[in-house]
Amino acid sequence: MDKTVATKKPSDESITIDCEDRSDHDLWMNSWWYDARIRVVVGGLCFIGVMGTYLQAAIEEGEYGILLFVGIGIVVLIPLERLIPRHRMPVLRPQLLTDIAHIVFTTFLSIVPLILIFPLLQFLQSETLVAAIQTQPQWLQIGEALFLTEFLIYWGHRCTHVVPLLWKFHSVHHSVEYLDWWAGERRHPIDGLFMALFAGVPLLITGFNLTDLLIVGLFNGLWDMTIHANLGWRLKFMDRIWVTTEYHHWHHSVDKEARDKNYAGALPIMDILFGTYHLPADRSPGPYGIDTHMPTTYVGQLIQPFRPTQYIQ
Ligand SMILES: [Zn+2]
Ligand SMILES: [Zn+2]
Repeated sequence: MDKTVATKKPSDESITIDCEDRSDHDLWMNSWWYDARIRVVVGGLCFIGVMGTYLQAAIEEGEYGILLFVGIGIVVLIPLERLIPRHRMPVLRPQLLTDIAHIVFTTFLSIVPLILIFPLLQFLQSETLVAAIQTQPQWLQIGEALFLTEFLIYWGHRCTHVVPLLWKFHSVHHSVEYLDWWAGERRHPIDGLFMALFAGVPLLITGFNLTDLLIVGLFNGLWDMTIHANLGWRLKFMDRIWVTTEYHHWHHSVDKEARDKNYAGALPIMDILFGTYHLPADRSPGPYGIDTHMPTTYVGQLIQPFRPTQYIQ
């Protein structure tokens, strides 16, 4: 990738800077804690602390979330990615540690505020609406919950692409160049929190039965691992029914025309309805990434949205 970046869009009269000078290093290298030994010790202690919390939640409350995610990825998806790869890439590919840090820390940083915020929003619930929804047949509730969730995810996701401030955070997810199941969880905590609130608050108000949402959420969560994975399967019969790997990989294209398409999380009908369906029959997606500078380190990616955008020329 070209190493020259600009602080404004290339069409403007922008100052170009050598990326070597403007990498995340310039922010840290003068700090006392830039020392590699300190970063390893601090990062290691944080890792042990957060993993300990996950283990405690699994043992005491049966909440296996992240452990289940990593377990399925290692046991099922790594062998599948070897058997039917979409692109040739090594298991230990560049920035793997950064994406593992996202899985461990970003999940934690996104969940904690939700646990604090959602109980405060309970007062928004309307008892009449909740009763009307929960007296319907269960199959209808599941269908409605899925459709409403998808509608909210679609518009929340589309906002993160068209609102420049939101894009600064969402671009962390799109900065992945080596797309595999690990990389699907690369996300800025503020981006994750925005989406969780955008989709979660209306669902909280409508009061769908949590068990129904759990079924939808669990299935979506598991399938979400495959749509980012480096899997070469095409699954053409699902094109207009359910989001596939090919479908979401187009959304990660470095080409903005393709990137601002395929916002749906599970149901392509949302993209068909709102004019953003993109699945060319004669081409395959890739390469992936963004046209602005993104540090390769985990902490650098957390800080980048707060810094000036640097366009890659
Ligand atoms: Zn996106
Ligand atoms: Zn994605």
